[in-house]
This record gives sequence, structure tokens and C-alpha cells, in this order.
Amino acid sequence: MTETPKSTSEYIDRERKYLAQIYKPLSIVLNRGEGVWLWDTEGKKYLDFLSAYSAVSFGHLNQRIKKALMDQMELLDIPARAFHTDRLGEFGQLLCEFTGMDRMQPMNSGAEAVETGVKAARRWGHDVKKIADGNQRIIVSAGNFHGRTTTIISFSSDKDYQRGFGPLTPGFDIIPFGDLNALEAAITPDTCAFITEPIQGEGGILMPPLNFLKGAQEICKRNNVLFILDEIQTGMGRTGKNFCYQYEIDKPDGLMLGKALGGGIYPVSAFLAREDVMAVLDPGSHGSTFGGNPLAAAIGIEALKILIEDNLADRSAELGDHMMRRLSAIQSPMVKDVRGKGLLIGLEIDPAYASARQVCDRLLEKGLLSKDTHGTVVRFAPPLIIEKGELDWAADTVAQVLSEMINK
Ligand SMILES: *Cc1c(COP(=O)(O)O)cnc(C)c1O
Repeated sequence: MTETPKSTSEYIDRERKYLAQIYKPLSIVLNRGEGVWLWDTEGKKYLDFLSAYSAVSFGHLNQRIKKALMDQMELLDIPARAFHTDRLGEFGQLLCEFTGMDRMQPMNSGAEAVETGVKAARRWGHDVKKIADGNQRIIVSAGNFHGRTTTIISFSSDKDYQRGFGPLTPGFDIIPFGDLNALEAAITPDTCAFITEPIQGEGGILMPPLNFLKGAQEICKRNNVLFILDEIQTGMGRTGKNFCYQYEIDKPDGLMLGKALGGGIYPVSAFLAREDVMAVLDPGSHGSTFGGNPLAAAIGIEALKILIEDNLADRSAELGDHMMRRLSAIQSPMVKDVRGKGLLIGLEIDPAYASARQVCDRLLEKGLLSKDTHGTVVRFAPPLIIEKGELDWAADTVAQVLSEMINK
């Protein structure tokens, strides 16, 4: 049977031996978390400045989420959608009222919420817009990240995500992120939807020009094309509003949520849409065994309540401004750019000096956990419950590491 490893390297070796090697994790082995803190097997403490890409926005083992889960575990687990439950309608009502959308379909992973949106958009294109089935086209943004299923990677512009996985799913047109002229030009009578992130998280915390969402919505409306936003990473207060689209528009036609909706404890995602879009999904057309089960619903409900009651979006805006000021004040030739919204911040490193990964490794040694994305960008996305003093410590640590790296 299995033996408990005696050292960090033994834990890592075992993982390397038995796991598909699709990740390159930083060299620590975690075994405990609480709030904004994580501990490794050697007892060393780290400030979590990534919060699982926003999945842990309410902090590790958030007491309210944990209690909601435990309370529900005393009552009912997973009966499948073959039956009604007392919690799912409550979750649906809360999420729809909160987002202003008409209906929701609960799923588990973010990728499943995106898949649901793709299916709804295509069927709406056929049933409502009267596009011949098989001809429906969806416009997406270059540099996007929407997940890892075969169809989703088919509309990625990252060749690493696609190599050797063909045949890819056809029907997608890629335009430069943030380019309204390209959007207008790409629309044909067969276009059923434009799907984009409001800020590209995985892509490197890339921000579109001001009023991109507003302009895109107008173009979509004029052309009878659905405007669908993937807020799996940017939603739930991350960027300083409950949803990033609220900076520019009232609401999109379709919306994908995930990550933080699961309170950091359990995968909960959803696709939300206006009435006539969701209406095309009839019995038998779609489904999920685990989606919307009572545990997921209880957690989703509590996550939304925390977001609302603790005013985490405002907190994210305020603390994000503070952190941006602190990071922008760092005088280092290594810093090419600091950008972001709320507590979603990217620190772009000049590759002439170091890779973002090297910076992350050095930050880790000092007890600050972050992750590089796309080679040159360090992504900072701390739990929204973080305190100002902890942000200041993180900013000091970043400044110190950059200065040590330049002076070595
Ligand atoms: C993480 C992410 C996804 C995929 O979510 P999974 O839960 O990993 O499937 C989709 N879209 C965006 C914007 C994301 O950040």
C-alpha cells in the first residue's frame, strides 16, 4: 500500500510518477488552508495571491460556505435532476435576480457552462434566427480562454491547446480581442453569437479598449447576434463590480459563471440567458447528473449571499485600486506593465530580465503564492476577503524580490 512521503521532494516525485503531466506546479506541497493563508507539508505559511484563479475568492474553508455545505449534508445529497429538490429553485431565483438574467442552467465546471452556452447559441441560431443547422457560426476573441473540452479548444488561438487533438469542431471565427471593426466585419447572416471574456485572465490580464462591451453589445443587437460573456474568472466581485460587464452595460444575452460560484469548496457553474435563448433547450437536449444538486445549490446560494452581504465587489474595487497604486510605484526596469481591474492584476515582466515563472519562484520563497501566465505575466488574484495590511506586505515582497533579482 502507500507510504507517507518523508519530504517535499518525495511528495512531488510521487505526483510526477502517477499523474498525467499536464501541469508544471511550483515546488511546494500544500496540506492546509484557512482564509488567505496556505501551509505546506513542512509547516511553512504562504499568502495565497492566486486563490485558485478566483475559485477561492471568499478565502479557504470559508466558515459560512463550510456551514452551508455541512447543514445540507445533514439533509440531502444528490438525487439527480430526475426529481425536484427544495434548494435548486432558490438557487435559480437568487442567481437570476442578482444577474438580471431570465433563466439559468446549473453545471459543474466552467468548461461545461461554456459548452452549454455554445449549444444554446447554436440552437437559438437555428430555431429562432432560422440559420440552417450546421451553418451556425460563433465569433470569439483571439487569446481567449474558455476551458479545455474538444469543442472549446477548437476556438482557441493557442496552438499548444490544439496540437494533435483534431479533428477540431468547426463553426468559429476568431477576431482580435477588443476590435469592434473586426467584430462588425466578421458577422454574416449565419452568425448566431459573439462569445468573449470582458478581461482575458488566462490570456495575461488583457484589457480591451474602453467601451468595448458597450460597442460590442450594440453591434450584436443591430445584427441579431447574441452577446455572450464568459465571466467565470472576472465575475463574482473579482474586478470591482459583481460582474465586470456592469462597468459598461446593463446585462448580456448570455452569461457563463463558475469558479467563485463554488465558494472554493465544490465545483458549481452556470449558464444564464434571456428567456428566448434558454427556451430552445428543451427536455432531452442537454443535462448534467451533478449540476444543480442540493449541495451545489446550497453552496452557490451561500456564495452569492456572502458576495452581497459583505459587499465584496466594493471591497475588491477599493483594495484593487490600492494594490495597483502600490505595484505601479515600484521602480524596477523589470516591470513592463501593471494592469487590471479590482483584485485581478497582472504584472508584466520584461523577458530581457527574467521570466514570470522565475519571479513566481522567488515570490514563493518569500511566502507569496502567485502564478505566471503566458510567459511574461504574473497573475495576482488574492481572495477578496484579504486585508489591506496583507496587500501591503505582498507589495513590499514583490518590490523586494524584483530589486534582489536585478541586483544579483
Ligand atoms: C477557468 C476558466 C474557464 C474554465 O473553467 P473550468 O472550471 O476549469 O472548466 C472558462 N472560462 C474562463 C474565463 C476561465 O477563467
